[in-house]
Amino acid sequence: MFAEISGRAADLKARLEAFMDEHVYPNERELLAERRESAGRWSTHPLMEELKGKARAQGLWNLFYTHGPEGQGLTNYEYTHLCEILGRSLAAPEVFNCNAPDVGNMEILSLYGTPQQKDRWLKPLLDGEIRSCFAMTEPQVASSDATNIETAIRRDGDHYVVSGRKWWITGAMSTRCKLAIVMGKSDSSAPKHKQQSVILVPMDASGLKVERPLSVYGYEHPPLGHAELVFDNVRVPAENMLLGEGRGFEVAQGRLGPGRIHHCMRFIGLGERAIELMCRRALSRHAFGTTLAEMGGVRQAIGQSRCELEQARLVTLKAAWKMDRQGSKAARHEIAIAKVVVPSAVSQIIDRAIQVHGAGGLSGDFFLAEAFAETRFLRIGDGPDEVHREALARAELSRFS
Ligand SMILES: Cc1cc2nc3c(=O)[nH]c(=O)nc-3n(C[C@H](O)[C@H](O)[C@H](O)COP(=O)(O)OP(=O)(O)OC[C@H]3O[C@@H](n4cnc5c(N)ncnc54)[C@H](O)[C@@H]3O)c2cc1C
Repeated sequence: MFAEISGRAADLKARLEAFMDEHVYPNERELLAERRESAGRWSTHPLMEELKGKARAQGLWNLFYTHGPEGQGLTNYEYTHLCEILGRSLAAPEVFNCNAPDVGNMEILSLYGTPQQKDRWLKPLLDGEIRSCFAMTEPQVASSDATNIETAIRRDGDHYVVSGRKWWITGAMSTRCKLAIVMGKSDSSAPKHKQQSVILVPMDASGLKVERPLSVYGYEHPPLGHAELVFDNVRVPAENMLLGEGRGFEVAQGRLGPGRIHHCMRFIGLGERAIELMCRRALSRHAFGTTLAEMGGVRQAIGQSRCELEQARLVTLKAAWKMDRQGSKAARHEIAIAKVVVPSAVSQIIDRAIQVHGAGGLSGDFFLAEAFAETRFLRIGDGPDEVHREALARAELSRFS
């Protein structure tokens, strides 16, 4: 399994590391501080646009993309190595046009979009000119079970009419978010997994209202944010249906395979950075006549963190490797394992790093507090861990029943 990455991927990785050192880490504090404090936080930071331009000029663009010349032609296994590097900074993914939820949305537009849909939405997304969101979750129903989704998608002549309420819609606060990819119910009399459809709704459509931003432990994650949205009889042309009526589950599955694993790849980078910060802090800080690094408890925390991060990296690499060979569907159990294992492991590593930093670790002065919030959310986002464990248990039990 542990093949070398190609020379081309290795070259991209080296250049990505150099770009991170030269442009991302030195500007990270400004990018992230602005994200939290500025009144115009939902619009893009000029510095972000400047860095995007530089990254694109250097060919460090759409690194995740496997569907055409707009990407770099990497396998998932190769991209895992690069994604870990850009995952070290919360500010980095957008610099390289590799940020959620746009990557998942570009994925499904590539797989299922018509030529017209691709021209209108995929092209500007690949160019980094617009942003998008994927709107499934609803406040009034348990949305981890997608069959519960209630938003109505009703055919009316040459149009569909969308009505409902969504929340936690990442990306929808951004002033540059132009597209909502909306899951809703088009036929409640159809078999359970054929009731849902996915439709493309322009963010400026009449009746679509961005009601409020939501925060994770107080972090609003601008400029993308997480929004509550209301669809009040929003009318869109019938050609905005993606793939076809009743095929919402197929679309959602296509989106979540690579999308889920990208989060895990990035989190390995966050974990590496947390271990690095933990070690540097422990070596430089003195208490009770010794450095923190000489204290047994701190050393145990560092050693345990290394064990857990290596395990997390291995399950992520295995999932990516299997996706490359057999596709996302065949790799669904490996993807589920990574989705459960990695956020928890990296959460714990970051938590230990916070502890070693004392009160400072809880503040905005270090990246640890925000990184912890990021990893904590993924134990619920993209489906709660329990749902993935349940799917794994079903598969295990079926081998013996
Ligand atoms: C930061 C953030 C960003 C998000 N971004 C998006 C987005 O862009 N688009 C979008 O549509 N949604 C998004 N979400 C929503 C996310 O996908 C949902 O919160 C998730 O699917 C769970 O749905 P729910 O919140 O309705 O929880 P519920 O379905 O109400 O579940 C609550 C709890 O019940 C338990 N549970 C559920 N099912 C099982 C089971 N089978 N076995 C055991 N226990 C179970 C779990 O503990 C679970 O956490 C985001 C969420 C967060 C926090």
